[in-house]
Amino acid sequence: MYRDQSIEEIYDGKFYGINDLAKIGCDGCKGCSACCHGMGNSIVFDPLDVHRLATGLLCAPAALLQEHEETRPESGARVLCPARMELGVADGLILPHLIMGGAEETCTFLNEEGRCSVHALRPGVCRLFPLGRFYDGSGDYTYIVQAGECPYPVKTKVKIKKWIDTPDYERYHRFVLKWHAFQKEMQGRMAGVEAEAAKALCIRILQVFYLTPYPADGFFEEFERRLKEFHV
Ligand code: SF4
Ligand code: SF4
Repeated sequence: MYRDQSIEEIYDGKFYGINDLAKIGCDGCKGCSACCHGMGNSIVFDPLDVHRLATGLLCAPAALLQEHEETRPESGARVLCPARMELGVADGLILPHLIMGGAEETCTFLNEEGRCSVHALRPGVCRLFPLGRFYDGSGDYTYIVQAGECPYPVKTKVKIKKWIDTPDYERYHRFVLKWHAFQKEMQGRMAGVEAEAAKALCIRILQVFYLTPYPADGFFEEFERRLKEFHV
């Protein structure tokens, strides 16, 4: 989710590159799961997040929107699970976000030990936290540490690339930039059309980029191909 706050309100005064060290280490989050509660609709999925979850849990992307069967990573058991994502308006588009359920607004993936049960499949926002991306208009982004977001008291320095823990980082980086640019372009396109046409475009984006399965091993290539569908 993009924020309209001024950068001074949310960061610690520094910009970081992927190979920089930042003071974000929290000793494996021992005993803490604060960022898995009360996050509202803010953990917005990108297409890779949904692909990664659906592929890892052995279910269809659309199944994540409702009660469904999935294969649990810890046990390998095939079990009935609640909806994992729901749709909301984010940055002018209709996009899926992670569900925070119950009175304590808890992520449905948090297990009884207070740990993420889909650590290897967790969405990009969870991989980043408490980092954020800052797009400065140059066509690229840098990383910021969102001040006051992680309450862990004595943080250690960790290399950003290690923290993000995302394979094939160069391709991932290009994907993030292209997805960001695409969303901006679609917002502009929607601003110039009637409400019904804007809604139809939103639904098409959702269907093409999120709900239609990608090949298990060819996400980035297929993403590029789908981008071209919108640029004819
Ligand atoms: S708030 Fe910080 S320490 Fe707590 S779970 Fe999140 S990243 Fe870990
Ligand atoms: S997916 Fe995992 S890391 Fe992300 S909020 Fe849920 S439990 Fe926490």
